[in-house]
Formats: sequence, structure tokens, C-alpha cells
Amino acid sequence: MSEDEIGRGTEAGDGVATEEVSAASAFELVAHETRVGVLDALREADGGPLSFGEIRTAVGVEDPGQCHYHVDRLVGRFVRKTEDGYVLSPAGWRLVGAIVSGGVTASLEPGSVPAAGSCSECGGSLRARLREGGVAIECVECGFVQADPDVPAGALAGWERSAIPAVVGRYVSLWEVAASHGFCPNCEGRVDRGVRRPGESASANRPAAPAWFEGEDADALVVTACRGCGFWWHAAVSIAALSDPAVVGFHHEHGIDLRERPWWTLDHLPLGECRVVDDPRRVHVRLALDDDVRTFTFDGDFELVDVERE
Ligand SMILES: [Zn+2]
Ligand SMILES: [Zn+2]
Repeated sequence: MSEDEIGRGTEAGDGVATEEVSAASAFELVAHETRVGVLDALREADGGPLSFGEIRTAVGVEDPGQCHYHVDRLVGRFVRKTEDGYVLSPAGWRLVGAIVSGGVTASLEPGSVPAAGSCSECGGSLRARLREGGVAIECVECGFVQADPDVPAGALAGWERSAIPAVVGRYVSLWEVAASHGFCPNCEGRVDRGVRRPGESASANRPAAPAWFEGEDADALVVTACRGCGFWWHAAVSIAALSDPAVVGFHHEHGIDLRERPWWTLDHLPLGECRVVDDPRRVHVRLALDDDVRTFTFDGDFELVDVERE
């Protein structure tokens, strides 16, 4: 695609995306068992190339004409025909990714697994409780829920059951990392992120505070919202701060790899407590590890502006 073509964009984005097929016709294209089978055969072959004969054997369609019909429907959008055979296109990879993630097709088996860390309310032990479409990290004794993220079944596939709480921790931290890079974890669209006080509505690329936040104890939340798909979530300021490189480095200096430590296992993390000032907006997160105390200061867009050592 030439630069000229890239720049010709239409309604799908601000000048960079060209909508080639409607969402309805893209879904219509793959709404057939045989076509899903073709994509799956290519995925299992690491994206291809596969010859027509290999595809036909893999999907088990006897009639070559019928098989050709289905493969041809996919060619152009989800599959490319090369000299060596058929390969998955980037759009085809996206589609099989959505299918394999199980976010669309699978749900989690209910059950629970002991989790590291202790309850922030009563000090009791924690467990990860699997529910349909997500995992709650909750206190065994008082029932207090530390976190209750939606998690696609595919994110937990391939791990030992005992590792589930740690895997959920890493999965959840990915959202804030994606947001700090400007991307939506749901659709890869551009996100807006902001430090929001109770009752604040959306303004200047900063999303609105959630309605439930009105009258709550905490001073501020970090709210992230996608311009593309509308997906949004919020996090305590101190939890969102764990995605910042300076905060990651601070933990690293003290022997803590934040990828291995879900936030609910970090006893030094102040939850809900943060100091917010306005004009201009600044939010301070004070963290103490060993005898090292540092205050990380973020602006209203949740960009780090200062680190102060006590
Ligand atoms: Zn508890
Ligand atoms: Zn999105």
C-alpha cells in the first residue's frame, strides 16, 4: 500500500484506516463451518502456506468444487493466495486470535484456587474464584473482593491451575501497560486516560469518573476509555502507577519483579490513598520499600512528572 493510499482514509479512523468491508460482510464471510475450518487449518500450519489439496484434506470436504467455493470466499480478506499456496492474511491472524483466545467462544469452568497475598480488609487469606468470563480475587474469610476482572478463557489456557492467580495478575497488569502506551487492550484503538475525581464528567480527552465513585472515600481514580470500541475501566491510582517504568524500576531495585507479583500481594501498596491537588492537577503516590521512600507524581493525564526521594 502506498503512502497515498494509506492517507486516503475514510470514516474508520482519522485518515489512516480505510474500511474495505463492512463488519456485517466480514462476519458473513466467515459464518460457515467450512470457512472457519479453513482458517483453523492454516493456523495449525503456522499460517501456511498450504496447498488447496492440504486444505481440503484438513477440513474434510470431499467435493473440490464446494471446497474451492469456501476458500475463494476467504481469499482477499482473510486468506492470501501465493505461489507456494494459501496463507493467513493479517486480518486472518486477527480472526483466529479472537477465536483461539476463547474470549468469544469459551467460558471458564467455575471453581476456586488458593491465591497468594492477604485481604486488605481483614488480613485473611485469598482465593481466585473462576466465574463465567472472569476471575474474582476474594477473601476466604470476609468475602471482600480485591479484584474481579473479566478474563478470556484463552488467557488461562496452558497454565497449571495453581498458577491461575498469578496469571490473572499479569493479565490485568497488561491493561494498564497497554493504556500507558496509548492502546486499548480490547481493540487496539487509541485510549484516553485521566486522573478523575468523584463526579467529574468527561473533558479534554479525559474520560468521565464512574457514577458509583460519587461520594466514595478515595480521592481519585485513573480512568481509561477507548475512542474506538468504547471499552473502559478504572483503577486505583497506586495500582495504575505499577505500569509506569519509574515505578517498575523502583521495585526492581528492591528485588521485586512486578510481573511476578500481582498487586494484591504487595503489602506496601497504599490502596485508595493518594494525594490530589488541582490547578494544575497532580496526584502523588508514596511508596516505601525497605528504607527507601519515594513519591511519584503524575499529571491529570496520568503521565509521570516527578519522582522525589525522602
Ligand atoms: Zn477479608
Ligand atoms: Zn477499544
